This record gives sequence, C-alpha cells and structure tokens, in this order.
Amino acid sequence: MDDLVLHNGTAVTVNPAFEILPHAVVAIRQGRLRAVTNRVPGTPLPSARETLDAGGGLILPGLVNAHTHLPMTLFRGLADDLPLKPWLEEHIFPAEARFMDPVSVGWGARLACCELLLSGTTTCCDGYFHADAVAGAVVECGLRAVLGQGVLDFPAPGVPDPREALPRAREFLTRWRGVSPLVRPSLFCHAAYTCGPETLTAAKAAAEEAGALYQIHAAETRSEARELIDPRAPTPVGHLARLGLLDPRTLLAHCVWVEPWDIEAIRAAGAGVVHCPESNMKLAAGIAPLPALLAAGIPVGLGTDGCASNNDLDLFREMGTAARLHKVAGGDPTTVSAREVLTMATIGGARALGLADRIGSLEPGKEADIIVVDTRRPALTPLYRPESHLVYAADGAAVRDVIVAGRLRVRGHRLVDLDLERIMAEVRALARRIRPPLCAHRY
Ligand SMILES: [Zn+2]
Repeated sequence: MDDLVLHNGTAVTVNPAFEILPHAVVAIRQGRLRAVTNRVPGTPLPSARETLDAGGGLILPGLVNAHTHLPMTLFRGLADDLPLKPWLEEHIFPAEARFMDPVSVGWGARLACCELLLSGTTTCCDGYFHADAVAGAVVECGLRAVLGQGVLDFPAPGVPDPREALPRAREFLTRWRGVSPLVRPSLFCHAAYTCGPETLTAAKAAAEEAGALYQIHAAETRSEARELIDPRAPTPVGHLARLGLLDPRTLLAHCVWVEPWDIEAIRAAGAGVVHCPESNMKLAAGIAPLPALLAAGIPVGLGTDGCASNNDLDLFREMGTAARLHKVAGGDPTTVSAREVLTMATIGGARALGLADRIGSLEPGKEADIIVVDTRRPALTPLYRPESHLVYAADGAAVRDVIVAGRLRVRGHRLVDLDLERIMAEVRALARRIRPPLCAHRY
C-alpha cells in the first residue's frame, strides 16, 4: 500500500522527455516516488493511506534554490539601492558582526525556511556562518538542504580569528555527516577576493576529503578581477581553474563576468553554476551570459541569493525575471524559454548540486519532493501551457501544497507543523535591535 497518492492534477514531470501528464497519479511510498503515471479514465486509484486531490492544479517537482544565505532574512530591506561594495562594507558586514549569533541565525534561517516552503522550494543550497544553527533550523522545518559553513580570510560572524575559519568548516563537515537525510554538509568559500590562494585550495581539499560540495561566489562584479588577492590571476574563474578548484563538486554562484575561455573551463571541468538574476540586477552587478552557459551544457541552477540583495526567496519570481532579462539583454524574445527556466529551477539546480539522481524531477525512485500549484486563480486562467504560467504568470503564493521526502509540510497554503506567527514575532524582536522601527506603528 502507498503512503500518499496525489491525483486530479496535471503533472509537469521535468523528466528527460519533459512529459506533461494531464490526469496524473503520483504514488509515494516510504518517502520516495513509487509511480508517476497518467490515469486512464474510470480506473481506480492505487490504494493508499492518504490521498491528496490536487484540485485540477499543477503537480511539479519541488523547486531547488541553488544559492542563498538563509539567515540574511534578518537584513531584508535594511539597506537597498547601493553598489555591492558600500552595501556590504558599510551596512551588511557591520550588521552581521554585531547581530549574528547562533540564536539570531537560527531565527533568520527558520523564517527563510517558512518562506521557501510556502513558495514551493523544497531544496536549498546555503552558505553562511554559524552553520550549525542553520542546519538545526533546516532540520526542524523539514526542508532539504546543502549547507556550507563559511570560510574567508577576514573576521566573520562567530569566527573572529580567520585562522579558525577552516577548522570550523571541517568540524561542521564532520559533525553533520549522515545526521539527517535532509541535510548535506558542504563548504562555502566566500570568494576569490576574500580568500587567498592557500585558503581556497586548503578549503577545497577539506571539502574533497568529506566528498562535499565546494561553494564559492565567482565573477559577480566587474571589479572583482582587480580585487583578487593573487595579482597574477587572469579572471576570477581563470584563477580558480589555475588553482585546480573546478570539478563536478564545485558550485560557482553568479558567473556574471566570465570570458568564453572561462565558460569552456567550467564546461570541461564539469562544475556547476548558479544564476541569480534578481540579486545581480539589484546590485547592478551585470547580466550573466546565461544563453552561452546553457549552450555549453553546463549544469545551471537558479538562486535567489540572500534576502538582503533580492529581497525575497520566491523562486517563481526569480524564474520570471530570468526568462525576461535575457530576452531584453540579447534583444531576442526566443532566447531562454519558459521550459529552460523551469528546468533550471528544478533538475538543473539538482544537477549543479550533484543531487540529480535524487531530486529535481518527478520520476519513480526519486525522493518525493513535490509541490501543487493552485491554478484556480485569475492570473492563471485560462491555462494552455503549464510551463508558461509557471514562469510568466505564477508567483510563490500560488503554491498550495508542499511535500518533502513524502511528508506534507504545506497544506492548503499553510505550514503544517511550524508556528509561523511565533517565528515572525521572534524575527521582529531581533529587527528592533538591529534597527528600531522608523514609525511607532505596531506590527
Ligand atoms: Zn551569495
């Protein structure tokens, strides 16, 4: 007997044939997809402990947010409309230094998990500090995640002495190995302009030793090439390539300022890339050459980046932005299709994270990470092509139900087992310390 069966919906499987099943039956057993089929009218549903009527909506694999910094929800809207350097150095870094401790990181991460789940993301890839607190929050909230403890050659939250950065990251990798089926520990090297060559290579060795994903911001802004700690470095990606850091377990966030030979180096090494268009737009970092990255066959995922530079974690909105941005950037409305963007937000992200055998599409044997999008909304009526609505018309608020590893985490637009009001109240209390509200108005 199955544990849960979904029916009365159209499944957008994102399988290799991109099959769309108008009368889908999705059967879940022991947290995995047992069957994903199209129902022949009149045939009975498989027997199951529980059935979920999708209400004629769309059934999709849960979205994969391949680059974010969960606790930064605490800084949402704290400083906007600034270039990356003053934004980081005058606002974000000082606020992090003063206010980020395991407690605040935990509440920021819980809030992020609520926002992610409610908007249809079932897997995220995070890099931050106090990663133990992030991991605790993620496990509590029931999201799937790849989580990295941050490493850089400067004092960071919880790591006042940079010499401690790598030992801390190593400890995190060891401590969280095999602890939860939902959490994969990883290592997050901040960037090649904040980490010297020795740190970059030693961190990669630590990640390799643990078989973990090595995350790094790469080629985000135009000025980054000039700021690299190694003055002989050609481009940020060229620098990483020369140090031997590119391979299938390396994930490069941004890749805005990459040359054709950088793209070739990424492709040849099999490294993954995360495209974060809204963060790049907000900080005026530039426009990543997404069509070229996709044409090269590089695994490309989609990410929101942290909440302070986006300012939300809604991957539906990110999909809409990605599809539109590259059309206007290239002067070509046929570039970066809705299907390509939906692929990036699901199986593309899974590939970039090295999880494509487990998540990213609705295929038997994979983890049962599933979302149901309610299409009985004015903005989603009528419906001709599901991928069009998912990319151009829907936002995260259309997500009705969310299942992670076979377990319902959101039902009827509500979190099943999390106290969202309490989490928001805790974050508001922290925010009053970070900056007192400008008006006396009570939330
Ligand atoms: Zn980032």
